[in-house]
This record gives sequence, structure tokens and C-alpha cells, in this order.
Amino acid sequence: MIEVTGLSKRYGTTLAVKDVTFRIEKGEVVGFLGPNGAGKSTIMNILTGYLSLTRGSVTIDGFDIAEYPEDAKRRIGYLPEIPPLYMDMKVREYLNFIYDLKKVKFPKKPHIDEILKLVKIDNVQNRLIKNLSKGYRQRVGFAQALIGNPDVLILDEPTVGLDPKQIIEIRNLISRLGKNHTIILSSHILSEIQAVCKRVIIINRGEIVADDTPERLSEKLSGDRTVVARIMCSEQEMLDALRTVKGVKAVTSLGRMEDGSFDFLIDPEEGADVRGAVFERVAARGKTLLSLTGNQASLEQVFLRLTEVSDNSEARRLLGTEKPQEEAAQEEKEDEKA
Ligand code: ADP
Ligand code: MG
Repeated sequence: MIEVTGLSKRYGTTLAVKDVTFRIEKGEVVGFLGPNGAGKSTIMNILTGYLSLTRGSVTIDGFDIAEYPEDAKRRIGYLPEIPPLYMDMKVREYLNFIYDLKKVKFPKKPHIDEILKLVKIDNVQNRLIKNLSKGYRQRVGFAQALIGNPDVLILDEPTVGLDPKQIIEIRNLISRLGKNHTIILSSHILSEIQAVCKRVIIINRGEIVADDTPERLSEKLSGDRTVVARIMCSEQEMLDALRTVKGVKAVTSLGRMEDGSFDFLIDPEEGADVRGAVFERVAARGKTLLSLTGNQASLEQVFLRLTEVSDNSEARRLLGTEKPQEEAAQEEKEDEKA
């Protein structure tokens, strides 16, 4: 249904999206998860035909976005990061305007009535958009995306800037729409994606570093004996100390915690249980080990850590999604060529 192959996008000298390939089937609800600047909006703008691509191809329902933009675009409803609302229009007036713009074929009034009900804004249909709360405005944004009954909805950070109650309402709306739409939504918040998506594509520095169910990603991270140690210490000193513990393969700092301690992700050699040795090393340095846990619950931390990694092989290592050696080598060669 949505097929993206070898997609790259260059802005001047910045390669913002690098060789991205994925396929999304009809009815899937997929999350694009990635830190700010990862390339989520760029990919979404290309999928919706708002931005041209540098390399690769995108097809929607078999229609190539470059060759048949009209056919492809008609199948997509898009809610950009900043919804294109006209503040001086009333809600219904604005939706009528979008209806005309999209050259929709169904009878106008019943179509708009239906959408007003679906997103629960029929009670404000005669209010000026500028007088609505942010949550209501976002629902008007959803409404404009739904005009023309597109199969695919592309939602760019749909809950940004909303309060917790509004976030829950929008989440429920997305779940409802997910029953009969294919949805891609982006977020830089993991829990946001976990709440509504069965599949998550993690994007970092313009590349896909993981593509799986949230559960399987958590499992991958906890399948080995990797542990997270929370220690009252200075960061660099403890990194150096932990890296020389017997059986430890790699140590990554997950950053400072609220109580001033640091969390360290400790990756042991194959099969090694390093907990005892880590405890002893921390004690020998006169520091306090606050906790030592398996990293089941740390997908969030690992994800946050992505913002700091300098290259995506480290990101893939953190996520347990390393590529086979030959493939990585092949890619390096191609990068050199490009
Ligand atoms: P995200 O939505 O994940 O935060 P974006 O797609 O907005 O990421 O941005 C990806 C990268 O491309 C960033 O480094 C950003 O600075 C750059 N970028 C985005 N839009 C433009 C633009 N119009 N011109 C130049 N660089 C851009
Ligand atoms: Mg964005």
C-alpha cells in the first residue's frame, strides 16, 4: 500500500534522509519515532507530495508520487506539524473551503457533517478557529485531513503542545481512526507511539535504525544479560572504571538522573553475568550503587540516548538491531561512491 524504496533527501549539503526503505500494508498503524532533527517530517512531507525527493521512489496504492501526484495525494490525508488553519474562518466555513480545494466528489453537507461528528467538533462548528483551544484546533486539523475520505492518514507529531487531557482525547481519536485507516504518525516520545502503534520505525540521523513491534524491541533489549546500573558518581570516572570490569564488553552512559546519579547501560561479553563484579567495582571506588536492573524497562532510556550517539552503528548496537557484517561493509562502499 505505501512503498518507499531507497529514499534520500538532500537539503543543500545536508543529507537529511539516507536510503530509507519500508513498506506499510493497508490498515497498519505505524509510528515514526525519532529525536528532533531525525528526518521524520522530511519523510512525511515527501510521502504527501509536499517535498520532492533526491533519490529513490515512493508509491501510494501503486501510484508513484512523482509520476502520478494527483492520484497518490488523493489517497492521503495529511496533518502537518503546524496545521494549515485560517484563524479568521469559522470551523465549518474552513472545512467547506478545504472541501472545495480538494475537489471532493461526495455531497458536501453530509460529508462535512460526518467528519464534524467523527472528530467531535460539531458543537463548535460556528466558532472562529482563533477562539478555540489548542486541543480543539488540533481536531479541526484532523478534520481537514479527513476530508475526501483518504485511506491513508499521515500525522506529524499530532499531540505536541497539548495538555495531558487533550493528549488522551487525540490518542483515542487516533485509535478510532486506526480501525479503518492506514496511519503513520510521528513522535519523539516513545510512550506516545507505544500507546497507539503496533509497529514502530525508529529513525535517527536520517536512517532507519529499527523497525519492529514495541514489544519485540523491548524483548531484544532484555534478551541478553545487559544491565542498567544507577550510581552516585561522576560520569566519566565511572565510565572508565566500569569498562575495565571483567566480563564487560561495553558501557554507555544513559545520562544524569533526577537525583543527580547516572544510569549506565552495561553490555556484557557473551553469556557473562557481570552484576557481582560491577557491584564490587563501584564499592571499591567508594561510590553508591542505587540500583542494578535488567534493562526491560529501558527502551525509553536507550531511545533518549540515540540523540547523543555519533553514528548509527552505535544506535543499532544499543537497539540490538545490528546489520550483518557484509551488508554494513557494502553500505560503506556505496556511501563512498555517493
Ligand atoms: P524531524 O521531523 O525528525 O525533527 P526534520 O525532517 O524536520 O526532522 O529535519 C531533518 C533534518 O533536515 C534536520 O537536520 C533539519 O535541520 C534539516 N532540515 C529540515 N528542513 C530543512 C530545510 N527546509 N532546509 C534545510 N535543512 C532542513
Ligand atoms: Mg518534525
